[in-house]
Amino acid sequence: MAALTPTNEQEFARAQAAMPGGVNSPVRAFGSVGATPRFFVSASGPRVTDVEGREYVDLVGSWGPAILGHAHPAVVHAVQDAAARGLGFGASTPGETELAELVERRIERSGIRPIEKLRLVSTGTEATMTAIRLARGATGRDLVVKFAGHYHGHSDGLLAEAGSGVATLALPGSAGVPAAIAAQTLVIPYNDLDAVHEVFAARGTQIAAIIVEAAPANMGIVPPAHGFNAAIAEIAHAHGALLILDEVLTGFRVGSAGWWGIDPVPFAPDLVTFGKVIGGGLPLAALGGSAGVMDLLAPLGPVYQAGTLSGNPLAVAAGLATLRALDADAYAQIDAASTTIADAAADALTAEGVAHVVQRSGSLFSIAFAATPPHDYETVKAQDAFRYPPFFRAMLDAGISLPPSVFEAWFVSAAHDDETVAQIVAALPAAARAAAA
Ligand code: PLP
Repeated sequence: MAALTPTNEQEFARAQAAMPGGVNSPVRAFGSVGATPRFFVSASGPRVTDVEGREYVDLVGSWGPAILGHAHPAVVHAVQDAAARGLGFGASTPGETELAELVERRIERSGIRPIEKLRLVSTGTEATMTAIRLARGATGRDLVVKFAGHYHGHSDGLLAEAGSGVATLALPGSAGVPAAIAAQTLVIPYNDLDAVHEVFAARGTQIAAIIVEAAPANMGIVPPAHGFNAAIAEIAHAHGALLILDEVLTGFRVGSAGWWGIDPVPFAPDLVTFGKVIGGGLPLAALGGSAGVMDLLAPLGPVYQAGTLSGNPLAVAAGLATLRALDADAYAQIDAASTTIADAAADALTAEGVAHVVQRSGSLFSIAFAATPPHDYETVKAQDAFRYPPFFRAMLDAGISLPPSVFEAWFVSAAHDDETVAQIVAALPAAARAAAA
């Protein structure tokens, strides 16, 4: 007798019994949108398929890595080929150097080449955590400045007033972080240069680094004010502190040199962190900077960092194949599809009289249910967030999988072709009606 296909409800019940909240990352929970998480069994191009055999157009994109679409043939082939030659050696491989060289070449602009050396790690959390340790090692100072609503992974010191799942769950930070560690992080409002000046005026000699999402995308999209990144780099440098530019989400997504490559005002970040796209869907992330700073890392220098799986050959193969496939045509496709979807969402919400703003940084966008564009975490939190759950559920009913939180970006891939985009556009009017109710 053939086994009955389990439902998403059944899978969720089973998962909840076995794992906290039934998920291995809180952003996958559907609590804030009032639905049952879908359990996926396969994905191809712009679509994912759940355990019930239902197909969805995917706008989560594995939270960023699936920029070419799911199971891109070149990436799958590269991973299969690498797997056949060994899953990992715990030793150096030529591919790691190739990936480092490729990144170093790509991140260059107006004669500025901020990345002379790169270290591969496995997650964005490790990349930012190591960048902070490196900045502390380089400056001999302890304090770190971060912006409210920015998310840099889940290391202890970076969870204060963080975006992403911390924002979705409306947490001020995390239990379990010692007060002494939290006190090393100074949190200030975003897009507010006066606040940056003030914090450096008060504690400048103790600040090792200021860390910033190159273009924040973890409280929904909140574009940096014109010249903001360049201005904070200047302030940090004037006080002997480093600027850590977090491009884990934006790197290789908004363009081949990340947000830094399209930021309207050139500036020199001291350390840059990458994740998501650089690993092509497998666990790989990186941090890079000048040789002077990066060579402070062990084994050359006194700042320790290590990883059993760092530079894993399968992840390196996926990353190389992904970056090589990301040509101008791929970015043009992502930009065009993003514009069509964002415009259609705005039109549908306007037609229903729902106050909204399309928040956009390059090809990254999200919808804020507000009358004026939010510019920091406070204004983001003040939006009519209650409109998102019905909007989300209507889209899901129509076979469109959006991020299950108003505080996340919509991830479009190069595989979102005209037919796929048309399917999304067709679903928007009903979702807008649901949001208006
Ligand atoms: N930095 C930014 C800007 C991110 O968006 C994320 C994850 O969403 C991280 C760091 C942490 O990366 P990971 O989830 O790979 O640890």
